[in-house]
Amino acid sequence: MSILVTSYINGEWVKVKDDGFRIPFINPATEETLGHVQEADHNEVHQAVLAAQQTFARGDWSKNIELRKKALFQLATLVRKNQDLLAQKEVACTGIPISQVLSRHIPRAAQNFEFFAEFISQSSSPVFEQNPHYLTFVRHEPVGVAGLIAPWNAPLALASMKIAGAIAFGNSCVFKPSEFTPLSFTILLELTREAGIPHGVINMVNGRGAVTGNAIVSHPLIRSLCFTGGTATGKEISAIAGQTLKKAVYELGGKSANIICADADLDRALDGALLSIFSNNGQQCLAGSRILLEDSIYEDFTNRFIKRVSQLRIGDPLLPTTELGPIFSKEQFNKVSNYISIAKEAKDITILYGGESASGFKKGFYIQPTIISTHNTAHILCQEEIFGPFVALLRFSNIDEAISIANQSEFGLVCYIWSSQIKRIMQVLSQVQAGVIWVNTPLTRELRAPFGGYKNSGVGRDGGVWSRALFTEEKTITIPTTDFPMIKLGSITNE
Ligand code: NAD
Repeated sequence: MSILVTSYINGEWVKVKDDGFRIPFINPATEETLGHVQEADHNEVHQAVLAAQQTFARGDWSKNIELRKKALFQLATLVRKNQDLLAQKEVACTGIPISQVLSRHIPRAAQNFEFFAEFISQSSSPVFEQNPHYLTFVRHEPVGVAGLIAPWNAPLALASMKIAGAIAFGNSCVFKPSEFTPLSFTILLELTREAGIPHGVINMVNGRGAVTGNAIVSHPLIRSLCFTGGTATGKEISAIAGQTLKKAVYELGGKSANIICADADLDRALDGALLSIFSNNGQQCLAGSRILLEDSIYEDFTNRFIKRVSQLRIGDPLLPTTELGPIFSKEQFNKVSNYISIAKEAKDITILYGGESASGFKKGFYIQPTIISTHNTAHILCQEEIFGPFVALLRFSNIDEAISIANQSEFGLVCYIWSSQIKRIMQVLSQVQAGVIWVNTPLTRELRAPFGGYKNSGVGRDGGVWSRALFTEEKTITIPTTDFPMIKLGSITNE
């Protein structure tokens, strides 16, 4: 029987509507339709917002920090306990290899809940005592209802960061996953009940961005918006969210440079380069999709890189040995294929490896990992986010040139630098325009630190106090400590 996923509002799955609009979600490895989501229209989103607002006003969650802490820790435990089931659902919808979902995505989801439980039990707000006549302090108060919109490429890991951040500070939320990846959330929402999170704190709505997403973005009762997705979508919705002056964080696309210097530990740089472009099937915002190699190591490193790529185990994402699964959807497959066609036709591009559909698969959106090389850093293949197992190799002769190439991008999410020379590293740290710089490491997320992008990679940050800034209002309170002299208006008589 085909699954139909409806909205989850105030602790209940919304009833199936015979005339509701339905969107299929498909297993990218088998092309089988796994089920449908029933789209939430503006009215249904409004119901979800009202449920969230009423729950918030009731106060049993918003005013009870002990319950929040306990429930979030419990939810982290339940996520770990149910990791296999969650991973099966996640792999079915996304095609991401199960080994990566089990080692990265699910642990990250559990850590997100745990991190914010710890954060709220340890954090404090500033007090200012410099003025001898006043004590001034700051309260962080929940905004009320948060709107959370997530993408398909790491559904649980990314959405749980938003949900955990929003509800830890006392808010209720209305959350929309990608319309193509609802399955793991059907399990997560059941786990939130078991963890003791009251009904109405987390409400989920499903549907297309232009309908369900738009209803969230434009709703006046939603006071904070946390969006992860494409840059074009981010620009579109920020204009709408501005109409109701929401607080907002936008986490958008990337085309990150991975600078590899001749003095680096090249074995580690090779492992790191492979991980940062080919994990998650190459579909990650922080992918190191432009590898910049110093002239003297270019030939040798390129040959070693190609050899390792040729050994990537492509296949069924449910097999524990698979390293590269199918592309997420037919549409995304066509998009990557189109970029490959551009590479084939361009005079200044050489395809070093791949460039075809992966052979041996009767079904599924499988594609070969593809490596190109070019001197033309302005080429669209070096500028646009391809979001697949596609990487451009470029070369540089000195660190100034590497920095200039890294910055020659509309994006600025991450930059990787592999070097053993502190001077070079410091130059990259200070001159590359990116929200995150990873030195001699791939993909290391520190939840206490801010994460986000420069330029078209986003606005604002999440993590630790930055998530608190998004999901709370700051209230400054000033109290006199003495009977300070006060100006007495109207006290002088004219007689
Ligand atoms: P997308 O922009 O198409 O969709 C993201 C979400 O927004 C989905 O839930 C979608 O339904 C919704 N949406 C789409 N149009 C909308 C609208 N007009 N109003 C409201 N909601 C709308 O992105 P995607 O294809 O799901 O995800 C891939 C993109 O996400 C890539 O560009 C990737 O780089 C980016 N991403 C960024 C980060 C980061 O942290 N910076 C992390 C992961 C993914």
